[in-house]
Amino acid sequence: MPGNKHLADVVVIGGGIAGASASFHLANAGARVILLEKGRLAGATTGQSSAVVGAFYGAAAECRLALATLAELEHFTDEVGGDPGFHQVGLLELGGPADGAALSAAVELRTQAGASVELIDASAVAEAFPGLLADGVSVASFERRAGYVDPVALTRAYAAAAERRGADVVERRAATTLVVDHGRVVGVDTVSGRIRCDAVVVANGIAAVSLLAPLGLDFGLTPRPVQYARFTAASPLRPELPAVLDDSQAFWFRADGDEIVSGLEFVPTGPLSDAATRDYAALCQRKLRRRLAAGTPLSSSRYGTMTVGMSPDGRPIADRVEGVEGLFVMVGDSGISLKFAPISGRCLAEWYVTGAPRSADISTFSAGRLRGGPKHTVTLRPGGHRRTVHLLRELSAVTAESLE
Ligand SMILES: Cc1cc2nc3c(=O)[nH]c(=O)nc-3n(C[C@H](O)[C@H](O)[C@H](O)COP(=O)(O)OP(=O)(O)OC[C@H]3O[C@@H](n4cnc5c(N)ncnc54)[C@H](O)[C@@H]3O)c2cc1C
Repeated sequence: MPGNKHLADVVVIGGGIAGASASFHLANAGARVILLEKGRLAGATTGQSSAVVGAFYGAAAECRLALATLAELEHFTDEVGGDPGFHQVGLLELGGPADGAALSAAVELRTQAGASVELIDASAVAEAFPGLLADGVSVASFERRAGYVDPVALTRAYAAAAERRGADVVERRAATTLVVDHGRVVGVDTVSGRIRCDAVVVANGIAAVSLLAPLGLDFGLTPRPVQYARFTAASPLRPELPAVLDDSQAFWFRADGDEIVSGLEFVPTGPLSDAATRDYAALCQRKLRRRLAAGTPLSSSRYGTMTVGMSPDGRPIADRVEGVEGLFVMVGDSGISLKFAPISGRCLAEWYVTGAPRSADISTFSAGRLRGGPKHTVTLRPGGHRRTVHLLRELSAVTAESLE
């Protein structure tokens, strides 16, 4: 019932990419949806995401789900509507001397999962990607279908498409309590009154912990700071610059207009001080200069920290909650979930409407996998621990004055 702010089939809590995707897919399937966002759409983690979408995982299940999201992005304008700012520039992964065997095994696994990825001779990198330097690179892979989106545009496009299908998207209205009666969801209390509904999708990032706790639900989520550093390039970047996972430097970057967004493959366990965050940015700048052709002047534009919600095994949770009828969650984003949110939102909508997810197998994101503790921690790229130790050494050697 569009326009009635107190009655819905489904209330979606959180207007990041997870909530926006779920809202669109639910409304598209005919559900009456109210999306509640306590601030602005994509105003939290999603807004600062590097938003790279590709099958660059060490497990086939995650690769397949990332590919399902890529398929949705490829047909986004026709099937959802609007422009998600999808730049299908490919994903270049650069390995150092110790990475050869692991990268080639990863390419095989990703290929078997359906990814269009190939190994490239290190000497061919600079030739194939003018503007990039291959110092210290021994082996590389390139995933053609991968790319990045504009995370704010994607979130807004889903929300606008949900509205066109009758959803109410309400910013600056926070959910305060999930209302459950006899084991089933019957409503959501908000800062401006109760909404009656028969299902809820909890997609409000790490704040989900306090919303779920009164129901005795604890998925073991913990807040974790993730840093990023942005730079302005004084000369225009090549439009075809791929997203780069630079394993050889434990670093990643991609273009964003005339800026570059970057970060280290390093997950601090606690907040970094302002000085340490500046050191982090200085180290990113040093690594970026090693990769960009001489004559690409870079100045620091902004750096900062966002908080993500880590699940115990580093995989997101997208599931229907057992024991509470009508309750769905998209939580524990673990700093990797933008690429999964489109397909997870679609599957949860199918679950609500038809009783089961249909488009993909999202059991790798089930809450049940965590019973009895995490079994397999997600692996992004091989040799992670070795690289983290090295990065910590590099970070302690860098001085704040190095940032220009
Ligand atoms: C620097 C960085 C780089 C990243 N790079 C990538 C990448 O390349 N690829 C990738 O796939 N992922 C990446 N990620 C991770 C990805 O961005 C996140 O996993 C994803 O954006 C999480 O989306 P979300 O909707 O779950 O959470 P959020 O974006 O945090 O959205 C949750 C929303 O809920 C709202 N909210 C909170 N409480 C309430 C309430 N009570 N009522 C109503 N609303 C509420 C918040 O205001 C917020 O807008 C990156 C993250 C960072 C920080």
